[in-house]
Amino acid sequence: MHPSLSTAHLLNRTARQAGACLGLVAGLYASAWAGPHEHGVVHMTVAIEGTIVQLALRAPQESLLGYERAPREGTEKQQADKLIEQMRVAESVIEWNAQAQCKATSASVNAPGLQGKAQAGGHVDIEAQYRFECGQVAQLRSAKVSLFELSRRISRVQVQVAGPQGQSQSTLRRNRREFQIGK
Ligand SMILES: [Zn+2]
Repeated sequence: MHPSLSTAHLLNRTARQAGACLGLVAGLYASAWAGPHEHGVVHMTVAIEGTIVQLALRAPQESLLGYERAPREGTEKQQADKLIEQMRVAESVIEWNAQAQCKATSASVNAPGLQGKAQAGGHVDIEAQYRFECGQVAQLRSAKVSLFELSRRISRVQVQVAGPQGQSQSTLRRNRREFQIGK
């Protein structure tokens, strides 16, 4: 695993696409998917443009449910359904500082492994995308990743932020769930 190489590559790619607004967002989404599949590690990208904030995340299914296959009927199925339902609620994934007045306008979760569609090698991710509109985007200063509360198996969340104040990266852990924006 070479996280530093990977990060440099991602930033280069994002920078190349930064010329166009839509390109920036597309680049960030691409970078979220490009990170390594490592159990316990979730990758998140945040793109801020005008009053819109977009968040994309990718997590190993193992780190949310404990297995990377379709759930068994009964308890596993119920827990998987509950997890997906929770992830569709943006606030159970991230909470922006209240002054920014950001409200989720869309959320989507993609979990191919729950339909038994694991990738080659048996690994599979759960991906989600969220869009927010912020009434006071100039007040956007920080966010807390509440996703940690959905699974004890998440040990680290890698966050990349791109917005009018530039790019930043944060490594969050269970005892440090907040990151700053624009610093
Ligand atoms: Zn895996």
